[in-house]
Amino acid sequence: AIILGIESSCDETSASICIDGEIKSNIIAGQAIHSKYGGVVPELASRAHQQNIIPTVDQAIQQAKITKNDIDAVAFTRGPGLLGSLLVGTSFAKSFALAREIPLIEVNHMQAHILAHFIDDPKPNFPFLCLTVSGGHTQIVLVNGYFEMELLGQTLDDAAGEAFDKTAKILTLPYPGGPLIDKYAQLGDPNAFSLPEPQIADLNFSFSGLKTAILYLVQAKIKEDPQFLERHLNDICASVQSRIVSILLNKLKKAAKQTGVKEVAIAGGVSANSGLRNALVEMGEEYKWRVFIPKFEYCTDNAAMIAIAGYQKYLRQDFVGQDITPLARMHI
Ligand code: ATP
Ligand code: MG
Ligand code: FE
Repeated sequence: AIILGIESSCDETSASICIDGEIKSNIIAGQAIHSKYGGVVPELASRAHQQNIIPTVDQAIQQAKITKNDIDAVAFTRGPGLLGSLLVGTSFAKSFALAREIPLIEVNHMQAHILAHFIDDPKPNFPFLCLTVSGGHTQIVLVNGYFEMELLGQTLDDAAGEAFDKTAKILTLPYPGGPLIDKYAQLGDPNAFSLPEPQIADLNFSFSGLKTAILYLVQAKIKEDPQFLERHLNDICASVQSRIVSILLNKLKKAAKQTGVKEVAIAGGVSANSGLRNALVEMGEEYKWRVFIPKFEYCTDNAAMIAIAGYQKYLRQDFVGQDITPLARMHI
């Protein structure tokens, strides 16, 4: 079966073609416009999706060397995400399915981040644990089946990606700051500045205290030395990244211990982080886990993960009608 996947939950317009479970194209149109505002502006995002969606889908079809007539079903991100952004992808998918008289498949964006692990080999076996770390979510999920997922823990305030992006803002770096912190961190000393680890007993996370600690640290240091940020940027980035990574992995370790599960994955935009990837590999060796780390292009938002999730739903004949509407909030 040939599935067209559409992703438009935030600020990436993406389209992908999946043929019998194999990804043949994954076109991603980013939106540079938001960087000058220091964050995603919802109204501008939906407008950009509107402009990008047709050329992005055309390109995905061309690159897969198929025609529109070959497509058997359309899968789209129903949520969670920005409603105005989701509406563009949802409306496009509905019209496409209606016009071509093919089935329509809804996909949960957070499930799709996890199901990106079924794009390439080696694939995890069920049950596995997934730490999903993105711009809007931080979750530990017990994945019992393609669409049987159990939330074991989540953030009580900011998401891990938000912690990176808000820290970057304090350090006067442009949005999205996560990748930049990663870059500078590689040149710095992770032990240069000590930052707090929140004390939360269960498998939940908190990042807002860390953000405040960084703000106070930077403010105090700048008082002593106005050039502080320029002089110590690498060390601050390394210290912050190392703390975010230790907060994430300590909980993951705890979840593995509690469940006895030894197949452990990461997913979502922050899983592109080099510090997290390296530390997870080390932890996996220590605890004899089978570790799964997505390819970079499948970490941040992409339609390949929507197409692969859609393919699994296609096999189950799990279709929706034209009355379907997007949801800004959606449980996993
Ligand atoms: P959600 O999936 O929760 O709806 P989202 O779709 O906006 O949110 P993603 O696109 O999955 O999130 O991830 C974007 C986030 O990943 C941003 O916060 C960005 O800063 C972060 N990120 C991307 N690359 C890196 C990196 N190398 N290091 C740290 N953070 C990163
Ligand atoms: Mg994005
Ligand atoms: Fe995402």
